[in-house]
Amino acid sequence: MSEHLFDRVALIGIGLIGSSLARALRQHSPQTRIVACARRAATLAAARRLAIVDETTDDPAAAVRDADLVVLATPLSAYAEIAARIGSSLKPGAIVTDVGSVKEAVIRDVRPHLPPGVEFVPGHPVAGTEHSGPEAGFAELFRDRWCILIPLPDTGPDAIAKVRGMWEQVGMRVTMMDADHHDKVLAMTSHLPHLIAYTIVGTANDLEDDLKSEVIAFSAGGFRDFTRIAASDPVMWRDIFLNNREAVLEMLQRFSEDLTALQRAIRRGEADTLQARFTRTRAIRRSIIEAKQA
Ligand code: NAP
Repeated sequence: MSEHLFDRVALIGIGLIGSSLARALRQHSPQTRIVACARRAATLAAARRLAIVDETTDDPAAAVRDADLVVLATPLSAYAEIAARIGSSLKPGAIVTDVGSVKEAVIRDVRPHLPPGVEFVPGHPVAGTEHSGPEAGFAELFRDRWCILIPLPDTGPDAIAKVRGMWEQVGMRVTMMDADHHDKVLAMTSHLPHLIAYTIVGTANDLEDDLKSEVIAFSAGGFRDFTRIAASDPVMWRDIFLNNREAVLEMLQRFSEDLTALQRAIRRGEADTLQARFTRTRAIRRSIIEAKQA
């Protein structure tokens, strides 16, 4: 599909997600002009060197001027300030969307700064790796992954359709959810697993030196998979936990209760309890493979 949806797209943040979108738009919508914004000259130089954008600037207000679509793709803690800086430079009819991993906090931070006549379509392409920066991106990142859009009561259907069209163009399946539901689902499927990975790898790191070196040598036993997740960007994940506090704490509470139950089963030697639990969880893996999300 190479329908031309937007003449000019401003990407605020050109890291893993922003640069992957730039690459994918280059492929699927070559007429679209892309302007990238980031704070550091080195980031912008990388985007130019990679030839994935047409223009670069460190000024968000300049980036969004004349843009038909603005995509916020920085860590969450920068959203409020960026929204405040771009508000008065957005052209009437412009659409603002984002890629943030938490949605209620983004709506809280961004919406008040957008003038009437500008459409806001919060979104979350659920696709990523543990790498960051413009070099880490690739056009196929979004292929066959889900993108969740959050339609707000005052968002026009045309704006939602265009943002949906863009994500479909780069290979995503798009679904709609409300922000609260999104944040709960992602707390379970993404945020809690990251918290567990950060914890396990941290626990291993605190072991005495001789034990630690063997943990690294024999990491293929399961630990290695956690180290990949725990290598994810610290700033991005700090922001996710601070901005999805309630949902994460709720899932963490449930997890702690289940962990305590397993701890008790191990202590009491309850073989049936352990086997029944592990059999049920195996079925989840099968359904993920069947849904082609493995
Ligand atoms: P990243 O690779 O670290 O890139 C962040 C980009 O934002 C960099 O280009 C950075 O460049 C720029 N930036 C940071 N602060 C800025 C500011 N105040 N003004 C302008 N630009 C700024 O991050 P990412 O992985 O692409 O994540 C971006 C967003 O996507 C996050 O909100 C995250 O929640 C969401 N997300 C991530 C994943 C994932 O797996 N990584 C998946 C789905 C959604 P400078 O440092 O030069 O400013």
